Amino acid sequence: MEPVEIEAKTLIHKSKTPSNDYVINPYTGCVLGCAYCFASFAGRQFGRSVKEWGDYLYVKKNAVELARKELAKMPETKRRGTMLLSSVTDPYQGHETKYRLTQGILRELKAVE
Ligand code: SF4
Repeated sequence: MEPVEIEAKTLIHKSKTPSNDYVINPYTGCVLGCAYCFASFAGRQFGRSVKEWGDYLYVKKNAVELARKELAKMPETKRRGTMLLSSVTDPYQGHETKYRLTQGILRELKAVE
């Protein structure tokens, strides 16, 4: 299955979970498609149904650049918040070998530590 490369408009979003302040998802979808996965709803923004989970992967190819820009604009007090990386996808699925988005985002987070 070929991934679909997209340009994301934003990357770091406020989290709706009680235990994290922000959430970052470098990919939408997951090629593994585990039957028990709670994240199968995540493709609805692309018109994908729950049944299609595991059949698609959208790659936010500008994710590292966005992380750098958004972190630079974020006040230091907010940067100290907790950030959940990959709440609805596997950050180290096979395509990470090519795209290195998770690795790059971690590098950007480390740079503003
Ligand atoms: S996000 Fe995790 S649990 Fe869900 S399909 Fe991918 S690997 Fe499986």
